[in-house]
Amino acid sequence: MVTTEQSVCPKCGGALKYYDSVPRIVRTKGRRKFQVSVRRFRCVRCRAVHRELTELLLPRKHYEAEVVIGVLEGLITCETLGFEDYPCEATMVRWLSQKAQLLLWRYP
Ligand SMILES: [Zn+2]
Repeated sequence: MVTTEQSVCPKCGGALKYYDSVPRIVRTKGRRKFQVSVRRFRCVRCRAVHRELTELLLPRKHYEAEVVIGVLEGLITCETLGFEDYPCEATMVRWLSQKAQLLLWRYP
């Protein structure tokens, strides 16, 4: 689920209320990284805390979504200028093994 305005708990359907914001490191090409603030919401019914997902990120991935998607679509490989050794080949192989799942997150 990729949304910036998540208002319903994915577990129980309860209403979500703003809880806090946490810093998140995003890795991008050329070994650069930057920090974004991710809002967290708490379900008023089951008390679960959910992080807001943005277009920029995929769940449990520290790389910018654009880089991950580029690898999945074959646009970025180890031979692509700027991506020679970062992300490393093992990381790219791991993403490719999760391709169906990752694309589902991105394009539900
Ligand atoms: Zn809930």
